[in-house]
Amino acid sequence: MSLAAPSPAPPSDPVIFPPTNLAELHALHQRAQAVRDQLESGPKLKTARQALLARAQADLETAKQNLQREKLQQMQHETQLKTLQSRSDDLRVKLNTVKKNDEYNAILKDLHTNQTAIRQEEEAILEQMAKVETLTAEVARLESELAAKTRDYNEFVAQLETRLASQRTLLKRLEAALTQGESIVPESGRETYRRAIQRRGADAMAAVDNMVCTGCYVQITQQSFNDLHLPDLLVTCKSCSRILYFPTALENLLKRDEEVRPRKRRGKAATNSSD
Ligand SMILES: [Zn+2]
Repeated sequence: MSLAAPSPAPPSDPVIFPPTNLAELHALHQRAQAVRDQLESGPKLKTARQALLARAQADLETAKQNLQREKLQQMQHETQLKTLQSRSDDLRVKLNTVKKNDEYNAILKDLHTNQTAIRQEEEAILEQMAKVETLTAEVARLESELAAKTRDYNEFVAQLETRLASQRTLLKRLEAALTQGESIVPESGRETYRRAIQRRGADAMAAVDNMVCTGCYVQITQQSFNDLHLPDLLVTCKSCSRILYFPTALENLLKRDEEVRPRKRRGKAATNSSD
């Protein structure tokens, strides 16, 4: 008995039929173009997310530097306070040993000035402590924000990579179908077709709707309309040079669908008609 888990079924990819007419060929080109656009936008999205992350990192760095600066100032005030306190101690000792009255008064005055400076330093320290407390909280907030953003970013990148990988696979299959599809382009026009696709991509083709080129919305000539009915001729728009075709893709797809499930359809139709 095998203990190995059954290998997962391959993901059900949509079937890509090689095109059977110019309309389907154009639709395939448009689909490939859309996939290419998405593949191209992937790295841009990643860069934008990276920029957000970098900003969060920079904000945290700035907050940390501010905190460091305020802590340093607090330490400087504390050092200054100690110096002033020890000077007060010295002055008090002197005060007890001095003999002359005017010297006594001078020291007393010094002591008074020194005490005022001590109170100022104590106030400054309290102010610094409040600043340090606020900035510490700010650093903690930015740290957890950065952690959340980093998690989001990693998740986003993983999803993006998965999506891009499947899009790359899809594009390969679309391109293979497009290569196969070249055979439906009339041989006499194949070079024109290749050059046009090379230059304009999916925009090199346009359907004709009611005698109008849907690429440039200029009416086509009667001659072009007649030529479009000839299977061996590739017709281009006189106004915009796009390769023209009749929009029959949908029609053909429905026909193909009909061929795949003829019985079921007929059965259903029979039920409906008896209603
Ligand atoms: Zn045109």
